[in-house]
Amino acid sequence: MLVGIDLGTTNSLCACYMDGKPVLIPNRLGEKLTPSVVAVNEENQILVGKTAHEYGLLHPERCASRFKRTMGQDRVYTLGDQKFQSEELSGFVLRSLKEDAEVYLKEEVTEAIISVPAYFNDKQRKATKRAGELAGLKVSRIINEPTASALAYGIGESGKSERCMVFDLGGGTFDVTILEYYKNIMEVYAIAGDNFLGGEDFTDLLRDEFIKRKGFEGRVMDLTSYINIRKAAESCKRGLSGSDSSVMRVNIGGISYEETFDSGECEELFEPLLEKLRKPMEKSLRDAKITLKDLDRIILVGGGTRLPAVRNYLHKITGFYPEYYLDPDTSVAVGAAIQCAMKERDKQVDEVILTDVCPFTLGTEVVKDNGAFEVPGHYLPIIERNTVIPVSKTETVCTAHENQKYVTVKVLQGESRVASNNLLLGELTVEVPVGPKGKESVEITYTYDINSLLEVEVKVLSTGEKKKVIIQDEENRISEEEAEQRLERIQYLKQNPREDEENILVMFRAERIYEECSIADQNRIADKINEFETAMRTKTRIEADSVRKQLHELLDELENRNDRGFLA
Ligand code: AMP
Repeated sequence: MLVGIDLGTTNSLCACYMDGKPVLIPNRLGEKLTPSVVAVNEENQILVGKTAHEYGLLHPERCASRFKRTMGQDRVYTLGDQKFQSEELSGFVLRSLKEDAEVYLKEEVTEAIISVPAYFNDKQRKATKRAGELAGLKVSRIINEPTASALAYGIGESGKSERCMVFDLGGGTFDVTILEYYKNIMEVYAIAGDNFLGGEDFTDLLRDEFIKRKGFEGRVMDLTSYINIRKAAESCKRGLSGSDSSVMRVNIGGISYEETFDSGECEELFEPLLEKLRKPMEKSLRDAKITLKDLDRIILVGGGTRLPAVRNYLHKITGFYPEYYLDPDTSVAVGAAIQCAMKERDKQVDEVILTDVCPFTLGTEVVKDNGAFEVPGHYLPIIERNTVIPVSKTETVCTAHENQKYVTVKVLQGESRVASNNLLLGELTVEVPVGPKGKESVEITYTYDINSLLEVEVKVLSTGEKKKVIIQDEENRISEEEAEQRLERIQYLKQNPREDEENILVMFRAERIYEECSIADQNRIADKINEFETAMRTKTRIEADSVRKQLHELLDELENRNDRGFLA
């Protein structure tokens, strides 16, 4: 079975295409979103999602989140005595989604289409693919998140050609994509974005403003208080989407602190972040060689676009009324599921051909003659950023020195005019007949295919000699042996059994809130835990579930009023 997965910075989810429509797959807790959080408990058991998040509140040193931001990088996360890379942590999230999908669909899930931000480079895409493999999934395609959203919004469904901007503000990343649907082809015209801007930054701003207003700045604060302020900032931010003002309330060291934020002052407060949204939008339009007037629609995706300040700002600078009628948390997964149906050629979905663009300029190093002398180290772009792929482009260069015997073509990726500032992907050397400078010409052809494989061909025009190389990401490739070892290590770390999830979650929550309570409340929790444990041993499943629900209710009550944390 093939599923579509939105592997998000904050949350992930899985969807499939069934009975002619996309279906969101609930996780083991019956929820559609699984937080992209991983923790390792004292028994070296892997916890994922809400349970990991809850456990992490008490054991932050054993918990990791937002690791999508470092996908494809060497950053190592230490959880207890275990070390992981981002792709391994993502692998755990994917494994958990795969298990949930298998239970829901009652069949094995072997293949997935996973979405990534449009701005992800080759390394980040490959790391995402490997994360899928570590979870035991064949990743049959990586799809850009905005392309998936456009599919979910039915861009092109009317059969008319349409040009749209997909504005995607997730938890940790921001992407703008210009897409065009024309004659059954969905074409990505341009992508731009910021891998370090997202809804979480708005929460951080609110948290910092609260700390400033309450005079906590510069004071040493314990971790619990800090976490509680961040949590309050998050719910205050969410409150802003339903009303004109929202109260941020935190209980610290027995004192209740409160601050009301109204939408006007928030728009002012958020101004620096809102301004950061503008540049990628302008860049995407420039790269697509169009203006706002040429757009038909602007669609909003990503949880961050729920913030009215973001919607208002967009309306203010574009004049458009952006569309947001689909749930921004799920539209990417829905689009990925539609893409699954296209891949399987489900009769219900007319096949739309998707094209992609190459996210970086690819070129080579040349010597420039400025009339007086030769300046080496210049960058000659061959395939420009945002060119629709597959694409093949040729440039002709000639010998730069007297009696030159060889021409070496450096294959570079990047935007800098200075060749050495760009990333060297590979090299190719051909022999040329010796002669005066400039006599021999060499044709360089770059062919970039839909799977982001670059083929470079160099041809000496006078002799017809040709050399060809396929550039792969050597540095980022792991040997089969290493892949095997990593898979084994990950499999040895057991994920906790899915059927126990709700019980484990409530016990973690009880443990955390217990630690922060007065003796009287601790006794109330202890009594309820006793009752719950007895019910699990002696009663029916339904009765045990009912006591678990009561325990949650007690914890809700205590969590909402307890004095927790303190300022030093
Ligand atoms: P995503 O990565 O698309 O799941 O986006 C998650 C982001 O959406 C987080 O930064 C959340 O704080 C944010 N978010 C979710 N719901 C709301 C809401 N009602 N108002 C404002 N932001 C929200």
